Amino acid sequence: MKSKLLKNKIIKWSKELGFDGVGFTDIDLKEDETHLINWLENKFHGEMHFMEKHGTKRSHPEQLMPGTVKVISFRMNYLNKNTFDSKKVLKNRNLAFVSRYALGKDYHNEMRNRLHLIAKKINNEIDNFKYRAFVDSAPVLEKAIAQKAGLGWIGKNTLLINKDSGSYFFLGEIYTNIDFEIDSKEKNYCGDCNECINICPTKAIIAPNVLDAKKCIAYLTIEFKGSIPIQYRESIGNRIFGCDDCQIVCPWNRFSKETKIQEFSHKNKLDSSSLLSLFKWTEEEFKINTQNTPINRISYFQWLRNIIIGLGNSEKNTKVVKVLEEKKLKINNPILEEHLNWAIKKQNTNLNTF
Ligand code: SF4
Repeated sequence: MKSKLLKNKIIKWSKELGFDGVGFTDIDLKEDETHLINWLENKFHGEMHFMEKHGTKRSHPEQLMPGTVKVISFRMNYLNKNTFDSKKVLKNRNLAFVSRYALGKDYHNEMRNRLHLIAKKINNEIDNFKYRAFVDSAPVLEKAIAQKAGLGWIGKNTLLINKDSGSYFFLGEIYTNIDFEIDSKEKNYCGDCNECINICPTKAIIAPNVLDAKKCIAYLTIEFKGSIPIQYRESIGNRIFGCDDCQIVCPWNRFSKETKIQEFSHKNKLDSSSLLSLFKWTEEEFKINTQNTPINRISYFQWLRNIIIGLGNSEKNTKVVKVLEEKKLKINNPILEEHLNWAIKKQNTNLNTF
């Protein structure tokens, strides 16, 4: 079968399976490899040591799957129209903000299963098809690949942005030995805009397209396992899992589209729960209520640590101080104790107006 015909079929199957975009590219990632090397040399990856493992596999798809000549990149929207407005949650300091990608069912399996279904269909059409499917699961330069495949451009906030759909979407890839015709790289449409750089609460975007992850709230609340540096705690505000500020402010997100995937709708009111109600969850409840969501990636310790910071930043309230004091008596963890002391002190200095 001619690869052009097969390409059209893949585009059709991907739509049927709920994907919102697909593009094809080669495996030359030299430009992005240089960017990655510089980023790692500057230690902007913090404790994400997995970023420095795997040698050059990340920027050389043929090393990850020998025989790879082309990559198919897929995009899937995750916003759900029933989700409570992000700006309202961020404004109400008594509510907990969870990054919108993490509210529903974990996307890894949802997307990977669909990629395997597409691969199965390809396999039915041609002989000697070889592939590997990835969704955030291996050393893959997914944004660079998607950009080359025409699915968007890497914005100054380091996220992939699509002209028609903004940036609220997941990416997945199929590495393949089929020599598809490639698509053209998307142009960068950031222009003079610097909204994401200006809004970032911890000034983690230190230059266009350069993120110092050590300062990023998504990194601090999800990847980082230790004591959150004091200089970032106030800026974290009520963000208990990730941060969407650089997306919320991005003008291209006026064009963001709703997901077709029901499973991405929010679970357990995590889009607008109060900090106090989430703080009451036992470890067991935390595990049950966040099961099969991306939140499950963090530990109960990180969950409590992040909420304690949120409570410290919440409106001045004697009930909050009482709950924090009570927790101090029950907890036997020096890092959490220190965060509790910080939050109690912060509560006592908060004004009642936000
Ligand atoms: S906010 Fe502006 S500068 Fe930042 S990614 Fe969006 S368009 Fe680019």
